[in-house]
Amino acid sequence: MTMIYLDHSATTPLRPEVFAAMEPFFGSTNEEENSKYGNPSSIHGAGRAAHAGLSEARRTVADVLGASPTEIVFTGCGSESDNAALRGIALARRKQFGTNRIITTPVEHHAVLYSAEDLRDFFGFELTLLPVDGDGLVSAEDLERALGDGSDAAVVSVVYANNEIGSVQEIGELGALCRERGVPFHTDAVQAAGKLPLDVDQLKVDALSASAHKFYGPKGVGFLYLRRGTPYHSYLTGGSHEGGRRAGTHNVPGIVGMAKALALCETERESEMARLQQLRDRIIGQTLESVPGVRLTGSHTKRLANHASFTIRDVEAEGILIALDLEGFAASSGSACTSARQKPSHVLEAVGVPVEELAGGLRISLGFSNNVQQIELLLQRLPRIIERHRQSIPAPI
Ligand SMILES: *Cc1c(COP(=O)(O)O)cnc(C)c1O
Repeated sequence: MTMIYLDHSATTPLRPEVFAAMEPFFGSTNEEENSKYGNPSSIHGAGRAAHAGLSEARRTVADVLGASPTEIVFTGCGSESDNAALRGIALARRKQFGTNRIITTPVEHHAVLYSAEDLRDFFGFELTLLPVDGDGLVSAEDLERALGDGSDAAVVSVVYANNEIGSVQEIGELGALCRERGVPFHTDAVQAAGKLPLDVDQLKVDALSASAHKFYGPKGVGFLYLRRGTPYHSYLTGGSHEGGRRAGTHNVPGIVGMAKALALCETERESEMARLQQLRDRIIGQTLESVPGVRLTGSHTKRLANHASFTIRDVEAEGILIALDLEGFAASSGSACTSARQKPSHVLEAVGVPVEELAGGLRISLGFSNNVQQIELLLQRLPRIIERHRQSIPAPI
């Protein structure tokens, strides 16, 4: 039985073109190409070849963002980019201007949320969590209220597209409010990269985080866009790599693969997202119609084209996911909460999902390999699987 992979928000397979681009930088058996494994900081030919790959990758990423190559910092993952943005900007801004408030949302990925809590608990920052509506969206009015004249805000961070519920924020509108007050604005674009426009001038962001493995690149590599002039203190110290903004010898094959993957996604973005959106809408429409007690989480309209997420009353996500797996479908609950015994998802709680539905999350996230036949097969099987697992379960604690 071949697996039908429906968990692209968790990670994506590496595209063959990406693997091919990376290969020479590991050191190839092809002699002509076997020169690129050097340390990009070295003077010799092998180092220069690696450095050339690094530079080209930096330009490719910068082009997709409408940024300058010097504004791109390569990192070890999306979580690192988020951590670096919050800690690096908040600490530098406080030192320079005495600003002492972090403003973010309750629907952030834990990489942002726990960084903000850490800055509060260990560094004495004030933390403001903006209200969100039932779709997980932040309003401009609420951000405006929280900012005031902006004089005490160190950094604002709002996730571009939510990993659990797929909602897409009005980043440009929020960014404009921060800019008027001179407050740096970061967005976690880990789910958005490859799927939504990343032009940093239109988004009006000063910092943006992304991760290669969410857009058909390799795992363990990401980038942070940092607008020129944004106060920043490297929290990973050592060598002067990345303009002193991130120490550590570069993961050259990973960075080259990431750039290739981002460029491919950008070229195909509009047509591929139109294709996936049709599949997504078929999943949402049919599931809402054929499964009793189901509710769409996140926005109907402002949502990732590849993302469908639900809560289902009186089922436990774990049982559904195991049953789906047995029938060849790889899906997710959409959060770390796969069992009524675990802590419920902070995102579902923040958007006001009733307690009796918190255990039954289901997330279908689509990608390159998915087609209409696979989706019809899923929709044929899903209602029966859910009925089989319908039970009365203990309310989550
Ligand atoms: C996956 C994800 C991250 C973390 O990225 P890693 O590269 O896995 O560390 C951060 N934010 C969001 C929204 C994500 O989906």
